Amino acid sequence: MVNTFRPSDLAQALRIIADTKPTVLAGGTDLMVRHKTWSGVVPHFDRPVVLIGHLPELQGIEIRDERLFIGSAVTLAAILEHPLVPEHIKSPIAQMASPPIRNLATLGGNICNASPAGDSLPMLYALDACLHLESVRGRQTVSISEFISAPGRTCLEPDQLLTAIEIPLIKCRTHYYRKVGQRQANSISKVSFYAAADYDKQRIHWVRIALGAVAPTVVRSPAAEGLLAGLDASGLKAVIPAVINIYQGLLSPVDDVRSTQQYRREVSLRLLENYLTRELMK
Ligand SMILES: Cc1cc2nc3c(=O)[nH]c(=O)nc-3n(C[C@H](O)[C@H](O)[C@H](O)COP(=O)(O)OP(=O)(O)OC[C@H]3O[C@@H](n4cnc5c(N)ncnc54)[C@H](O)[C@@H]3O)c2cc1C
Repeated sequence: MVNTFRPSDLAQALRIIADTKPTVLAGGTDLMVRHKTWSGVVPHFDRPVVLIGHLPELQGIEIRDERLFIGSAVTLAAILEHPLVPEHIKSPIAQMASPPIRNLATLGGNICNASPAGDSLPMLYALDACLHLESVRGRQTVSISEFISAPGRTCLEPDQLLTAIEIPLIKCRTHYYRKVGQRQANSISKVSFYAAADYDKQRIHWVRIALGAVAPTVVRSPAAEGLLAGLDASGLKAVIPAVINIYQGLLSPVDDVRSTQQYRREVSLRLLENYLTRELMK
């Protein structure tokens, strides 16, 4: 039997987490798959569970000082329906899982699961998202790249909860997201590619590019982005081989049940080349 807590507010949840160091369950769509114990296959589990998906303090979506704040337990479906959330943030979320899963799955859960294939992660890295963590000891803010250290690993202390995701709202002229999976719905990414950019007819103001599932954590290169900023169309054409070369050096994909290293390497670089030659400044 699993000992389960359902706190009525965040303060009570943080106290329970500090006292019992339980497993935190938001939507449960990653945890229920990982822990066959809970779906009845093995009738024992050794840690208590605290449910947080219903906590009112983790539900809000609001804009403050040109930054979007999303409560960690807001579901993917609620994010997609919310009028304050811009399309460049919704676009990768719209391709995650299927409507029934998106009704349960939370953005906080996708981040804390820290899978290299997590589909919200390239977008959050590219947009410089910050994460708000809280425990009975106090509050802390960290960048998404500081938060995720390796596949399945984060800097979250056992008594901490992720409470909110903060995303700066930048003026983004175009965004581009491609997910390569086995099929359209309910498939985990073999490779994912996110880019956002601002440019006019003359030149590129800035570009952010992030690749998922091709290294232990999301790959982003400020050096490559710096090469692209300020270029006109002919300058862009000239620099494409150098940009591809930088990303090539950063890839370290693995072979696993979903794909091979070689496929991940080739497809991600092709997505990058396609973006730079056909999508950026089109
Ligand atoms: C059929 C199916 C299809 C899927 N398709 C996709 C897909 O296309 N793309 C994709 O990226 N994922 C996919 N997933 C995985 C999953 O749905 C997502 O990662 C989802 O966002 C997880 O959210 P959750 O609330 O269900 O997390 P949970 O399962 O509740 O938790 C996941 C992990 O995060 C921790 N956690 C959750 N919230 C917090 C918090 N606030 N503070 C601290 N720790 C926390 C939990 O302890 C656990 O370790 C799929 C899953 C299924 C079952």
